[in-house]
Amino acid sequence: MNNSSPVIWWIRRDLRLCDNPALTAAIASNRAILPVYILDEQDAALGAAPKFRLGLGVEHFAQELAKAGSRLILRRGRALDVLRQLVAETGAGAVHWSRLYDPKAITRDTEVKQQLSAQGTAARSHGGRLLFEPWTVETKTGGMYKVYTPFWKAVRGRSVTSLLRAPATLPAPENWPVSEDLIAWDMGAAMRRGADVVARYCRVGEAAALTRLDEFLEDTVDVYKERRDFPGEDATSGLSENLAWGEISPHRMWHLGRAAMERGSQGAEHFLKEVAWREFAYHLMYHSPHMLTSSWRDEWQAFPWAQDITPQVLAWQRGQTGYDFIDAAMRELYATGKMHNRARMIVASFLTKHLMTHWKIGMDWFAETLVDWDPASNAMGWQWVAGSGPDAAPFFRVFNPSGQLEKFDPLGAYTGRWIAEGQDGPPQTALNFFDAAPVSWGLSPGSPRAEPVISLKQGRDRALTAYHGARENR
Ligand code: FAD
Repeated sequence: MNNSSPVIWWIRRDLRLCDNPALTAAIASNRAILPVYILDEQDAALGAAPKFRLGLGVEHFAQELAKAGSRLILRRGRALDVLRQLVAETGAGAVHWSRLYDPKAITRDTEVKQQLSAQGTAARSHGGRLLFEPWTVETKTGGMYKVYTPFWKAVRGRSVTSLLRAPATLPAPENWPVSEDLIAWDMGAAMRRGADVVARYCRVGEAAALTRLDEFLEDTVDVYKERRDFPGEDATSGLSENLAWGEISPHRMWHLGRAAMERGSQGAEHFLKEVAWREFAYHLMYHSPHMLTSSWRDEWQAFPWAQDITPQVLAWQRGQTGYDFIDAAMRELYATGKMHNRARMIVASFLTKHLMTHWKIGMDWFAETLVDWDPASNAMGWQWVAGSGPDAAPFFRVFNPSGQLEKFDPLGAYTGRWIAEGQDGPPQTALNFFDAAPVSWGLSPGSPRAEPVISLKQGRDRALTAYHGARENR
């Protein structure tokens, strides 16, 4: 590297200036920094909502970089080709990035590292997305953890890297390479009518995420353990969206959460346990990447789940099953790009058990519609509910959506917020769903409420019969 050559900071799912080891390393090199985001084939293939949300995040982050005296260079193409081209254009001597852990990203990044190193460009990957690199957590016999509780016991007392300061400014190069135009990329193209509606519910950017964490730890974490399962309440952090795009680090959540715990806050430890579920999901995905594409436990491969998009599955996707909890949740998902965790479990159970439909169909719909889409947490969540995961709820535990409603939404706060039919003057939230839903779905708030797509008893009995049959055939 000659004295004036810049370094490239290849930005992926780390749209933040605080707690960013890749940025810190780039700054430590005392060179000019070229922040680059590459829309490669992997990001181009994201589902509609995650891609849209990524676009919002990139747009916002470009503004933040401008405030720090820098620029975000946007390029499209195969990552290795783009990086090589940028190195050739700018004379950059090094590329720094934060690691991702899904198999496609690992394959891409391994090749980038090998090829850049071979041409004499330093290629450095850094942590920052996870508290614990997946290969650093292992059982006493040197294997991976398959069950959450021992995983939690293994990590809860570990030291976690200290928080890193955001630089006030980023050293700029004398000449900036050309950037493409984000508007021309049209990251929301697949959102149809949903883009404006979903955008209203997004919390975009690092500053907003940090404020939310502070408010949550100040006002809500004390009741987190007791109230986190009530979808009508604002009793969880809502930070999964920001974690997904790296607008906040899990390290900050961990350190501030621990400080709250040490102050005697009720609920803070429970919050840390949930943050550790995300770590566990990454641990599972890293050590058993087949979790993303097939049933984790082999004996579930032959389970007779339907794989078609039937009218019942369409009704599930469109919030038209006739069951209030399911429909409220699926409408919340479509209008906001998010869904409460308890609701995710209930809708996943309904699809995989009452409707006997493969969990992959549900996982794919979530990958299309969630702004907090995360490959590891999504796959783990679906396989946990379906019963096919390593640490899973047993298949025979079938959530009853009506019973769950009585327990977790007794006053109808959640269903009232999302189901317009039958309400005089329904709230804006419920109407937002109809604004976002594609016209081709033919839905309107004045239409009669959908009839149940299946009787709960019939669906449950069918699922349990299939389960017992599959066990006998093993
Ligand atoms: P909080 O309750 O405030 O928890 C704090 C953080 O802990 C979350 O932001 C999240 O990062 C982590 N966390 C909490 N619960 C879980 C969990 N069960 N599994 C993994 N991490 C957790 N989460 C995603 O981020 N992306 C997904 O694509 C996703 N898909 C899911 C699919 C299914 C079927 C299920 C059952 C769960 C899924 N989850 C997913 C996990 C969970 O529902 C969300 O992380 C949670 O609803 C986020 O809300 P919050 O930020 O308010 O969480």
